[in-house]
Amino acid sequence: MTVFHKSRLQRCSTLSATLLVAAWVGGCSSSGDIDFRGAGGSGDGDAGGTNEVASVGGMSPGTMAGGTGGVGGGGGEAPSDPCEDGEWTCLRMGTKGPYGSHAIVVPAAQNWVNTGLFLTTGQTAQLTVEGGSWMVNNKEGQGIDHGSCLIGDLVARIGLHYKDQALTCVDGSATFTADKEGILFLGALPSNDLGESYETRRTATGEKTVRVESDGHTVPTVLATEAADYPFAEVSSGWVEIMGAHIIVTLPVATATVDAVVLETALDTLDEFYELHEELRSGVPQHGQRIRFFPDGTNPGLMLAGNPVRMKTTLVTAEKRISRAGQPGVGVWGYAHELGHDFSFVDGNWTYQVKTLESWPNIFSVHAFEKMQLTLHKNTIDCDMNSTGNYDAWSAWVGLCFLRQFEFAYGWSFYKDFFVELNKQQGNQGIKNWNTVHDAFETVAGEDITPIFEAWSVPNPG
Ligand SMILES: [Zn+2]
Repeated sequence: MTVFHKSRLQRCSTLSATLLVAAWVGGCSSSGDIDFRGAGGSGDGDAGGTNEVASVGGMSPGTMAGGTGGVGGGGGEAPSDPCEDGEWTCLRMGTKGPYGSHAIVVPAAQNWVNTGLFLTTGQTAQLTVEGGSWMVNNKEGQGIDHGSCLIGDLVARIGLHYKDQALTCVDGSATFTADKEGILFLGALPSNDLGESYETRRTATGEKTVRVESDGHTVPTVLATEAADYPFAEVSSGWVEIMGAHIIVTLPVATATVDAVVLETALDTLDEFYELHEELRSGVPQHGQRIRFFPDGTNPGLMLAGNPVRMKTTLVTAEKRISRAGQPGVGVWGYAHELGHDFSFVDGNWTYQVKTLESWPNIFSVHAFEKMQLTLHKNTIDCDMNSTGNYDAWSAWVGLCFLRQFEFAYGWSFYKDFFVELNKQQGNQGIKNWNTVHDAFETVAGEDITPIFEAWSVPNPG
């Protein structure tokens, strides 16, 4: 029985008809159907946006980069620090400037290194490449659609605002002048910002060491485990990053101060989503590095997947904000969903998500919510093993219900086994359309699953 409300299908259909679009959560919500309730992050929607994804497809398969060096590891007797001793570059920094001079390792595979420096508009930093080399991907030297830097360049930027035009390419040395206030990030340019979500750093190897000198303020990285007692009020820049096991959240100090005692719970909640997604996928996105949630303020949706996951700024300021994740009444579906996108793109495989780019992430969300015994999103409650839907008019939620038919029939091991098959491939080779999805599903199920495809009029080879 089709039990989805007709109005929901109608509202979402024009958006979901745009195949394989960018991963905006907010697309369908803007039509009024899906309830985000401000900063709650409780809702989620269909894809909206553009066909930009096409510009990042077709990356040739390559080898995964190996581990890349961080800045820490200096020995001594102190216990290991997850920031300074980790695999990826992370600087703890003190609460106050002046920043001084720091030599920072920038791995090409790292989704932007937080230099620990905060600049006000017009303030400068001296950047000097001290050594190193990298290979980013097979599109080095090509331009992107925001700013003048080329793929493969060392780029400095304020914040991680979506498709920022103000990227500074650093060749040898440069005086960086902040076009707006914010945290200075460094990174190898692998593609445009959207492309990063689709693993354009998958083949990146090598690193460069960059000296950063400035009298600006600092941006401390605070472990979630120490947040309750951290002197946030002393941080002169007004910004910190909170680090969990798998997640980083960029937060204004005003929010961190108020939420200090609940930050560990928030990061634990997000980390648990990550770990449950990993369990389902048998793999991790973005080389296994932490996924950053960054308040962007420029994007048209609630959140955009990738690394960082870009958020509306209300998600760090409003009553139901990310730093209160795990507290009663604070919706967290959206965070699980965005991480679900990232886990659905592992190894640059994403074209298996035909007309389901906003449905597959919710397979991860449903799995995590069930394991954590959280209340599922209200748009999932009408879905059961007797549901059917019409492929030509379906929404992200109907697509999810179709995918869940296999969970209902075979349990979560079905999707675990499917992803094991998908993980044998890279860069959209193999399982990449409904025919190959159908065949893979049939292999996993061990029996003919064509009747389910037919009941939902999903294209299949029979
Ligand atoms: Zn989405």
